[in-house]
Amino acid sequence: MSHGDGDHERYAHYVQKDKIMASALDGTPVVALCGKVWVPGRDPKKYPVCPMCKEIYESMGAGGDKDKGGKDGNKK
Ligand SMILES: [Zn+2]
Repeated sequence: MSHGDGDHERYAHYVQKDKIMASALDGTPVVALCGKVWVPGRDPKKYPVCPMCKEIYESMGAGGDKDKGGKDGNKK
């Protein structure tokens, strides 16, 4: 009946994969990229990705190669 657990239950946060594995084993909370302490025990696919986690994840440069574009300057 309690709804007081907060918004973090509604999002899937980004957490390092090995931390998720450890958490799955002993049920300890993990710290998501956005700083949220979170137990990723439930099906994350049911939830939208936490916007803050997503922003941090993208700013970390995962797949950021497309932004460079200056390397191949041989054309002209
Ligand atoms: Zn988050």
